Amino acid sequence: MRTQVGIIGAGPAGLLLSHLLTQRGIESVLVENRSRAYCEARQRAGLLEDGTVKLLREAGLAQRLDTEGLEHGGIYLQFAGERHHLDFRELTGRTVTIYAQTEIVKDLIARRLADGGALEFEVSGTAVAGLGTARPVLSYTTAGGDRRELVCDAIAGCDGFHGICRPTIPADLLTVRDRAYPYAWLGITAEVPPSTDELIYNHHREGFALHTMRTPQVSRFYLQVRPDERIGDWPDDRIWAALQRRLALPGWELKEGPILDKAITPMRSFVSAPMRYGRLFLAGDAAHIVPPTGAKGLNLAVADVTVLANTLARLVQGDTQAADGYSDACLDRVWRATHFSWWMTSMLHTIPGGDPMDTDLQLAQLRYVTTSRAAATSLAENYTGYPPLR
Ligand SMILES: Cc1cc2nc3c(=O)[nH]c(=O)nc-3n(C[C@H](O)[C@H](O)[C@H](O)COP(=O)(O)OP(=O)(O)OC[C@H]3O[C@@H](n4cnc5c(N)ncnc54)[C@H](O)[C@@H]3O)c2cc1C
Repeated sequence: MRTQVGIIGAGPAGLLLSHLLTQRGIESVLVENRSRAYCEARQRAGLLEDGTVKLLREAGLAQRLDTEGLEHGGIYLQFAGERHHLDFRELTGRTVTIYAQTEIVKDLIARRLADGGALEFEVSGTAVAGLGTARPVLSYTTAGGDRRELVCDAIAGCDGFHGICRPTIPADLLTVRDRAYPYAWLGITAEVPPSTDELIYNHHREGFALHTMRTPQVSRFYLQVRPDERIGDWPDDRIWAALQRRLALPGWELKEGPILDKAITPMRSFVSAPMRYGRLFLAGDAAHIVPPTGAKGLNLAVADVTVLANTLARLVQGDTQAADGYSDACLDRVWRATHFSWWMTSMLHTIPGGDPMDTDLQLAQLRYVTTSRAAATSLAENYTGYPPLR
């Protein structure tokens, strides 16, 4: 079988890429090893940069985002018993939007199917070959058990951090930067209206806490925990008690409700370069991951595939030079987001075994970003997306 671009992975990167390619008149086949229902329910990101929203709008994908998304003009930073507001709209003229990754994935799958896109869920045995040639091959076994071989012009590895694409690149050609943090996030979704109008990032001696949201009826919370912590040791009342202690502020009340899901996520910064090997192009978490404190992972995936769609459009028309700039074009933004995510993480999390000097340095930095317009603008510029995608 033949297609122009073989895409592995039905996360935001792979699905958006297949849509952008269709808009450029390029045919693709997307394969995913999980079921459609699983992909649509996987709880992950929830915050879109200004440029991501504009891009989705331009791509004709924002019908539900524009009616259900919650536009936020800033965030709160809470520390030492005080809550400060950073006004992104005033500082940068830009905003962010709360719209869950689950909803983006649902919108993209629905649109691909409506447009007659080739999506294959529940495949197994995904493999790539011939990456150094002009006709790389993507092979897989369909849900029905048929083995398929797709001859392509290019293959897009959008298969996430644990996918098969990055490991096919010879290790001696890759530069890998990897940092595991000595803490993790325990995340919950709760059926209760948010107790805040915008996100609260909270520095606390017991550990970081974040109050975010999914909809006007559904809240989301994160607690800093040890990386070896077991979710079974966190019954609902222990989670609420920790959130009540860490987020407490005189005169403010945290509303509680039924917990719909809970999970512990390790935190890591990882960048693998280059993001291309012959006719294999990596995008999104397949090439880089960031700790979620800066809310960058999904936004980086969107930025990568925006560059990749244009690169592939030129490549399939015979412009073989086009591929050369892909990796560098993405990595500048990736490193900016990697630094910002590391910086936010380091400023807000308790350092296990840290001494009072560490805490006082964090508090000094938090005071600076909440009192200096220059420092606040720097945070706002990065948080809303730098460089602006649109
Ligand atoms: C708890 C949490 C909170 C987060 N919060 C934010 C946030 O607020 N903002 C933000 O921007 N980002 C956030 N992120 C990060 C964001 O969710 C990811 O960066 C995003 O999912 C990356 O998209 P992707 O398409 O590159 O990869 P993925 O979403 O991981 O998609 C990869 C797909 O490839 C499939 N796959 C893997 N291997 C194979 C194979 N062999 N064959 C076929 N298919 C395969 C997988 O099943 C998956 O569907 C968060 C992440 C977590 C875990």
